[in-house]
Amino acid sequence: MKTIGLLGGMNWKTSALYYQIINERIEKALGGLHSGKILMYSFDFDEIVRLQNDESWAEWERVLCEKAVTLERAGADMIVMCCNTAHKAAEAIQQRLSVPLLHIADSVGARIQREKLVRVGLLGTLYTMEEDFYRDRLKSGFDLTVIIPEKDDRDMVHRIIFDELELGIIKKSSQKAVLWAIGKLIEAGAQGIILGCTEISALIQQRDVRIPVFDTLAIHAEDACQKALE
Ligand code: GLU
Repeated sequence: MKTIGLLGGMNWKTSALYYQIINERIEKALGGLHSGKILMYSFDFDEIVRLQNDESWAEWERVLCEKAVTLERAGADMIVMCCNTAHKAAEAIQQRLSVPLLHIADSVGARIQREKLVRVGLLGTLYTMEEDFYRDRLKSGFDLTVIIPEKDDRDMVHRIIFDELELGIIKKSSQKAVLWAIGKLIEAGAQGIILGCTEISALIQQRDVRIPVFDTLAIHAEDACQKALE
């Protein structure tokens, strides 16, 4: 079994879910007393969000790279970042590693492709929804057309992520607002919805939406297990 290096803390509750899912899947796959071989570096999320808010992207990228390299030196056979937004730095990180970075958009893209969908809606932070790094990866790797909510809805989703979900606050009114935005994506032709922020699955689940919903956290963690067992 390979050792998975988790770059987490973005936020810690999400990293705990990655840790739990990976161990549960390995236990199920191998039986008995088996569990995952895992190394984790967990950031103080406040420091990460400050750099994001200040748009100190060079420093933000530097600290992510530094800790990914730390995990590789400690013996990780692959690096898994427990966060969608952090993949803005994925290329820079991969360049500094000799082990693979398991890109969250690759795990999700492969899953969507298996479902034979071609047009999907993306929810996440403003960085993930508006910048190229995530959508381009899905387009070039999996030929997916990714549509995003209109500006007011993007701002609303971003605000809910940072003012509520990251703090563990779940509000019915926010769920309703995000479902309304999802409804508009469906009207615009989305065949599936990517929950492209690891905390959104606390607010929106498959039972709430009439088209397939892709929980990036669970899909990424499961893919990491599969790669660890290959
Ligand atoms: N965990 C979130 C994600 O998956 C966002 C938090 C952050 O900006 O780092 O994108």
